[in-house]
Amino acid sequence: MLLNAKNAALLPEHLHYIADADVQDAFVYMVGLAASDPRFQCYGELKGAIRDFRFLDGDGQQLFSFIVNRESLLFYFRAPAVSSGRFALNDLRVLFPTASVNNIGEWTVRIKMIAEAKALWSYLNAGVGFASGDGSTTQIGHVNRNNQRCGGHRGHAGNDHLQKAYRMECLQPSCGNVYGANGSDVFQRKCPRCQGGEPGIEF
Ligand SMILES: [Zn+2]
Repeated sequence: MLLNAKNAALLPEHLHYIADADVQDAFVYMVGLAASDPRFQCYGELKGAIRDFRFLDGDGQQLFSFIVNRESLLFYFRAPAVSSGRFALNDLRVLFPTASVNNIGEWTVRIKMIAEAKALWSYLNAGVGFASGDGSTTQIGHVNRNNQRCGGHRGHAGNDHLQKAYRMECLQPSCGNVYGANGSDVFQRKCPRCQGGEPGIEF
């Protein structure tokens, strides 16, 4: 939703600042999605010469934003989104090979057309669709003793009795492997790529 029409006059200004028609379309699409989504409180902002659009969650944390440039939108996964465990840079790079990390650990994706905005939104929704388990070690964002971060589950069964399949992300330097694990294994799971752990399962 739009935040009580905060800075509403900025939105047409942002739109007309953009020089490229495809980027304008992507802007309108992103703002429309944001305005229609009750999970987010959104508004445009202008700080000095920087034009942006922000997505806050119900607690007022800024999860995402994008900077409005003349030739593109630069979308940011802000610190609360990066540390949430709901998203993985490796997954993002499958969709956007040029996704990068800035000097304070935020992820950025450049958007130039509606198709890219759609792909990004699908990815955001998939991430938001994950849920924590009941135990403390299966909470989204929990990092186990082997430096493997739990990303929650989507309700899919694992391959062990009565277990759900969780998304895990390896936090070892220069690994970043993303794989699935049974809920009962999450607390001690090792990375299948760099720690000799069992092969991952579908999640
Ligand atoms: Zn690893």
